[in-house]
Amino acid sequence: MSSRRVTVVGAGVVGLSIAHEFSLAGDTVTVIADRSAAESVSGVAAAVWFPYRSGASVSLMSWLVRSRTRFEQLAADHATGVDLRQGVVVERHPGADRTWTAAVPDHREADLGDLPLGAVAGVRATVPVISISHYLPWLLKRCEDLDVRFVRRTVARVDDLAGEADLVVVAAGLRSGDLLDDDTMFPVRGQVVRLANPGITAWVTDDDNPDGLTYVVPRREDIVCGGVAGVGSWDTEVDPETERAILRRATALMPALAGLPVLSRDAGLRPARDTIRLEHVEEHAVPVIACYGHGGSGVTLSWGCAEAVVDLAGPA
Ligand SMILES: Cc1cc2nc3c(=O)[nH]c(=O)nc-3n(C[C@H](O)[C@H](O)[C@H](O)COP(=O)(O)OP(=O)(O)OC[C@H]3O[C@@H](n4cnc5c(N)ncnc54)[C@H](O)[C@@H]3O)c2cc1C
Repeated sequence: MSSRRVTVVGAGVVGLSIAHEFSLAGDTVTVIADRSAAESVSGVAAAVWFPYRSGASVSLMSWLVRSRTRFEQLAADHATGVDLRQGVVVERHPGADRTWTAAVPDHREADLGDLPLGAVAGVRATVPVISISHYLPWLLKRCEDLDVRFVRRTVARVDDLAGEADLVVVAAGLRSGDLLDDDTMFPVRGQVVRLANPGITAWVTDDDNPDGLTYVVPRREDIVCGGVAGVGSWDTEVDPETERAILRRATALMPALAGLPVLSRDAGLRPARDTIRLEHVEEHAVPVIACYGHGGSGVTLSWGCAEAVVDLAGPA
């Protein structure tokens, strides 16, 4: 019996994870994409496991738990680029949303004395931090080892794939809507500056900082400092004034950053939607499943959503 032919449109972190899972399940998998993960917004991600601008999906908690569990397993293998690191979520208002803590076994109330001026509380937690320049090549190689086939081309219409696939998964990030006549996608612009890492491991997020969204994510070779959340902005240029402001806020949070050399800088568009779309899409010449709209949480949710897509597809 020949195996089901699954074509995944998109080679970002979401598409690669889905391809990996279908291949493990025994399907014959092709990934079609016009950009590699490193050339996509997946290469810009900070990438700390944390739900940020991921919409209001009812399955969010399940995807968070499944992803965290997978990343935790991957952290046992140094080659993956995944590490479990402790850090702190700063809260600026009483009653901040802590639902995410249900997905994190190792968390506790932060000591107020460890928090910046203006914070009212905080949560100290251990979560996966993904050194993306190690992780994406590792994930790509895993897919290749599982015989996933890669084709570099632009897909104009999903129906064009009808002859070559039994199932198409659209995981094309911000451009997914173009393929499925869905106009609910919108960009949320982000900008980061990466500093040399002298050995810092503790991360910090301060989303409600009155001077602007701020996070510091130390990875293996660099420290990612962000950020901005430009809703509706399509601008992918790095803005020097924004970078200076990011560095000022990040250094105020973590004074040890002062004077560290800048390694690189980047801007990218988070593929946002009010709710992540993970469902069958009817009325195409081929069965289609959509998996997109992960906002600022595409890495965080990648494994959980990939597992859910394979569950939704059912057996071949
Ligand atoms: C500054 C910044 C910081 C971030 N930090 C984090 C973080 O700490 N944690 C976290 O979880 N997330 C973070 N994110 C969000 C994360 O980067 C995204 O949610 C995630 O990368 C989305 O992955 P994706 O695979 O859906 O899309 P993408 O990475 O954009 O990949 C899309 C793929 O689809 C392909 N494609 C699209 N249309 C077509 C077509 N018509 N034909 C062929 N191929 C097509 C592209 O070529 C590409 O391969 C951050 C984002 C930014 C900008």
